[in-house]
Amino acid sequence: MKYNYLFGPVPSRRLGISLGVDLVPFKTCTLDCVYCECGETTLLTNERREYVPAEAVICELEEYLSSLPRLDYITFSGSGEPTLNSEIGRIVDYLKSEFPRYKLCLLTNGTLFSSKAVRQAVDRIDMIIPSLDAASEAGFKAINRPHKDIHCRDLISGLIELREQYRGTLMMEIFIVPGLNDTAEEMALIKKALTEIKPDRVQVGTLDRPGTEEWVQAADNSKLKEIATHLDQAELIEEFAERENIASFDSSISEQIRQIVSRRPCTVKDLIQVTGKHQAEIEKYIEYLMKKGIIEVDRMARGTFFRLKK
Ligand code: SF4
Repeated sequence: MKYNYLFGPVPSRRLGISLGVDLVPFKTCTLDCVYCECGETTLLTNERREYVPAEAVICELEEYLSSLPRLDYITFSGSGEPTLNSEIGRIVDYLKSEFPRYKLCLLTNGTLFSSKAVRQAVDRIDMIIPSLDAASEAGFKAINRPHKDIHCRDLISGLIELREQYRGTLMMEIFIVPGLNDTAEEMALIKKALTEIKPDRVQVGTLDRPGTEEWVQAADNSKLKEIATHLDQAELIEEFAERENIASFDSSISEQIRQIVSRRPCTVKDLIQVTGKHQAEIEKYIEYLMKKGIIEVDRMARGTFFRLKK
């Protein structure tokens, strides 16, 4: 069966063997983050609807999970904001009643938690990982470039409300963009917001493959450590398991990508077309190959290309 809404399982440094479930078409999001590794948001919206049919997602899950594969998580993630799909709660309920052995995770930008319906829809998910890259309106606009009706104060109050009712693990993620949210002022505001939200864990990360905007650079490791300490011993995403040590790491995919780019430089889109893999899966292997120094990025007027490192 060819899956349209499932991908992987991918080797996730934080989640282990993770089956991805993509609930929105590429790239449908409430934000257009400068660092987004999927590229520019093509549908910037705060409208919730059934962007992809829940029934079709459930059919694919039923088929895939019928053999009870080994998974650490089933993760709602992919090419945009999963909570924009108005049927996410129905899919969560299906998984919890038919396949209770699997843990669920949601990667989200958190912008829709000010809605009670969204908070209820995600209530049975085992782990929620929302982002909080800024706690000032100006910082939020500069980094996350939200839909015009989405505001930083609502993002924070939505997360506070979520925490009050949610009994699963809430793990906040902060993505550092040097020059924008690593200032003392922004960090003080983020720290204050975290005190109010009361997450179980906080993780700090930075760019590890090309983002939407060329000028976005990765923060260096000493700066990340300093920020993590300031935020009361937050964890560094960098320090999680190496991808190749995760059981779902598929060396044939990384080898396939290496061979393709050795013939000619390719964009992510080219690699999706040739391999038939989901964007999120390709991105994980690109990150691995870049870290290993096997491929490198070449920004051109026609787009971002990957090629074998010279
Ligand atoms: S919230 Fe996530 S998917 Fe949306 S633009 Fe930001 S990084 Fe990309």
